[in-house]
Amino acid sequence: MVKMIDYHIHTSLCGHARGTPYQYLIAAREKAITEIGFADHFPLALLGCNSGDKVSMEPEELAGYIAEVHRLDSLFPEMTVRLGVEVDYLPGQDGLIAEQLSRYPFDFVIGSVHFIGSWDFTHPAREREYRHKNLQKLYDDYFKLVWDACRSRLFDVIGHLDIVKKFGYLLPEAEMEPYYLETARVLKESGTCLELNTAGRDAPVKQFYPGRQGLEIFCREGIPITLSSDAHAPQQVGRYFTEAVELLRRVGYRELTGFCRRRRVTIDLE
Ligand SMILES: [Zn+2]
Ligand SMILES: [Zn+2]
Repeated sequence: MVKMIDYHIHTSLCGHARGTPYQYLIAAREKAITEIGFADHFPLALLGCNSGDKVSMEPEELAGYIAEVHRLDSLFPEMTVRLGVEVDYLPGQDGLIAEQLSRYPFDFVIGSVHFIGSWDFTHPAREREYRHKNLQKLYDDYFKLVWDACRSRLFDVIGHLDIVKKFGYLLPEAEMEPYYLETARVLKESGTCLELNTAGRDAPVKQFYPGRQGLEIFCREGIPITLSSDAHAPQQVGRYFTEAVELLRRVGYRELTGFCRRRRVTIDLE
């Protein structure tokens, strides 16, 4: 049987996604995905952060989320369900994040940068703030946070790398190269994996996170990669995966990475 994975799936618990975990599982099954990793937003309140918008689970929802994902794993013998979580990397909170993560039996942890200071630069309601930014400085700030997230060694995967381009504020390719090269170096040094996150194709930028330029560099540097839709609605599970797999093969990837109890598992790209 051909294996296919989707390792970044949200649920309605985070407050800005639609659908129960069961509905996502059914959607994945219909798309012939054989292994899914739920990765809903870890409660920001447990990391000492209170963003005004509802962007993560509530602390009291976490136990139910874990129980539900575990229950789903035994539902269909042909499908594997992994328990993951997407955690905001908040600088200076390494100890608190480590302490929180040690309490739960996650199969994998995605570390994501959504905030520069108090600005949630991925949130559509805060897009207008891009207009006042110096792009070079913005990319510097974003990538420094990503590198710090890798160096913290708290995470198995860095989420949606280069999402700072989400609303189409792009730097020329020549200026992007040093960011990708340094990211590859830091990923390798810290033993952190990347994801090819297809959600960017539905964002104003209409590109994967990361796109072809980054993927070529990461493949050349031997950085392991997982594949994910970042679905916030059941019909988004596996979105653009045919195109994504083709691109991964074209740049030279021959395998994908999955996780079990925070250890990597290799899946052949057929
Ligand atoms: Zn989300
Ligand atoms: Zn995210």
